[in-house]
Amino acid sequence: MEHTARAVNGRQVERPAVEPAVVKPEREPMIDARPWLVADGVARPSLSRCPLCLGEVLPVLGIPEFVRHRSALHDARCVLTTRTYQPDELVVRKAYDVAVGFAHRMRFVRRWEFHYAAVQQLCPSFTMKRFATVLAYADVLNLWSYPNLREEDLASVLLVLTGFMRLADSAVKGAPESVGWVRFWFDASVRDVGDLWGARTSAPGLFRIEYREPGSTPFPTGADVLGGMRVDTLQMPWTERVAGPAPELHAADRAAFGRFVARSHRN
Ligand SMILES: [Zn+2]
Repeated sequence: MEHTARAVNGRQVERPAVEPAVVKPEREPMIDARPWLVADGVARPSLSRCPLCLGEVLPVLGIPEFVRHRSALHDARCVLTTRTYQPDELVVRKAYDVAVGFAHRMRFVRRWEFHYAAVQQLCPSFTMKRFATVLAYADVLNLWSYPNLREEDLASVLLVLTGFMRLADSAVKGAPESVGWVRFWFDASVRDVGDLWGARTSAPGLFRIEYREPGSTPFPTGADVLGGMRVDTLQMPWTERVAGPAPELHAADRAAFGRFVARSHRN
């Protein structure tokens, strides 16, 4: 084979004169458009923007039900196509504010049953154990310190902060394409939680994405997406909800929440 010489770090090294063939990605990341063609009760013939990353999408030739991102950057970052199992997370960047944080957290604890019921309405399999875990995480992140924090958004925020949720083994068994994991995401207009409570022209989308069991990564990637849906936010206005009686909950859940509060006050 013909070789040429070049200098690398002051040393002469040899390399083949023929450049290696460009390695193409396995396949172009495609998005099944069908679940996304009905949004807000309106049926659309095609998609022009990705519902998750809001990037422009184009039809895939020959496969009318699929679209692809126009930009490779969106391919890399979008929940529906990313090859990383640690995509951009929702961030909480508010510095701790003693007065605001204390008041918001107290109000949450006072109405925790309503919040737990709201989370379960959006995700019926959400357990008290998960609830306590994500609340401890929210405490560390200073979620409560946003001055404009709206109580009615907390169920969505807690679901998104929870991250990947593995379903019980019983749900995984069966067909190879069965759903192994779920995760809730806001669309890309919400990067920082505070984006929910700033000036907005439209409400952000909240999505439930379902994944198959990943083959080679600890958590699923865009390649494992089985489907998804836009989750309707809670139908009943929050003020109306909290004006009613507290939701009925199991005694075990009440006891578990009491233990969480006692533990967090000790820390
Ligand atoms: Zn996208």
